[in-house]
Parts: sequence; C-alpha cells; structure tokens
Amino acid sequence: MISRRHICSGIAVAGAVAALPRLASAESCQTRTRANPHGLSPAQAIDALRRGNDRFLAGTTQNCDLIAQVEATAGGQAPFAAVLGCMDSRVPPELVFDQKIGDIFDIRIAGNFADTAIIGSMEFATVVSGATAIVVLGHSGCGAVRGAIDHVELGNLTQTLSHIQPAVDAVAPEGGSSSDAVLVQEVAEVNVGMAVAGLHNQSPLMAGLVAEGKLMIVGAMHDIATGKVTFLQG
Ligand SMILES: [Zn+2]
Repeated sequence: MISRRHICSGIAVAGAVAALPRLASAESCQTRTRANPHGLSPAQAIDALRRGNDRFLAGTTQNCDLIAQVEATAGGQAPFAAVLGCMDSRVPPELVFDQKIGDIFDIRIAGNFADTAIIGSMEFATVVSGATAIVVLGHSGCGAVRGAIDHVELGNLTQTLSHIQPAVDAVAPEGGSSSDAVLVQEVAEVNVGMAVAGLHNQSPLMAGLVAEGKLMIVGAMHDIATGKVTFLQG
C-alpha cells in the first residue's frame, strides 16, 4: 500500500495529491480506546467538538477509515464527550462535530430533555467511562419544541412532549404558536438550559465531577440551515 508519506515525498507532489481523495493524517484518525485514552480536560473536550464543527462547516472533515475505527475500538471504548441531542435526522452528532467511532456517547430523544433514565446514562458516560464533557444540543426548527408549544397530544408522544412543557411555560406563560419562529428558538434554548441544569441538579455524582473540574456540562444550539453549532455556555 502506498502511504501518504510516500506520496508526499515524490517530486510531482501537487499533481499526485490533487488526483487523490483527501485523507486525514494518521494521527488525527487515531481512535480513542481504553488502551489509548483521550486524556482531554473538560475544556479541551469542548474545544475538540468546536474544532470538529469548524471542519464540518468548512468542508474539511477528516474522512478516516471507518472499518479501521471499528477494529480499533472492538476491545473497549473510551469516548471523550457525550451529547444529549434531539432525534431530528438533521442533527447527527458524529457528523456535525466531525468525530469518529468511539469518540462520543450519543443520547438522542425528541426535544433533548433529561429525565432520570437519561441522567443515569450520562452518569455511565462520565463517572464510569470517563467522558469529560457533556453537550446538550438543541436545534433550530425543532419539531418537538413546536409540538410542545402547540400542546400536541398523540399516543405516548404526549408524555414525551410533557418534558418540554416547563420550557414553554417559562418562555410563554400565556401560550403561543409554533408559527412564531422566534418563540420556537427561545423555547428550544431555554429547554437546553433546563436539561443542562437537570444534569447538574439531579445527579450528585456528576455535580461532584463538575465541582472537581473533571467535567463540563454545557448547552449548544445547532442551526439546521447552516450546520453551525453555537455554544451557549463554556
Ligand atoms: Zn428536535
């Protein structure tokens, strides 16, 4: 197999590289495993996600070998971050943060709220597995938020949307309509803040890690029109 180093050492570098698909360096494609732990501080973990979104926006994603990542992580995982995001098909965390297999835990649910089951899963991600950052990732135009604003009732979805109701009540105590895009965005951001607070306040374990400087829990909003993630805190 011809390595990138061999290619780059050739004289006709420009022509050769231009003819090949862009590949990330071996170092940036290195997977995080128990044998190769991430070693990232909370701030470094958040920064890694920020830089990943920058690559995503710039069209410079790493394009690493997926099967190589599968093989490297088969013996155990050691993700550096966890994302609590919406189930929305337009907000896949690994893609918008340009991360690899084994890099992040994902919890995705309509409206990215934090209930007991989700908080327990995040305790596994952080206390047990050593992730040093949690991002609660809301997004623009969220259907779950719009449904909560409109008090949609449908089977079990009624119960799901009830978790978003506190944010609706906080922003629009007199009620509102999902046709109000500004209101939808504001409720989505408040809903993110409430999930961040819930992860702190309902988990003494994670609150302890935060107090020790071993964990950051931050909110962020993804713009479905541009792909940009804006961090709300941290
Ligand atoms: Zn959504």
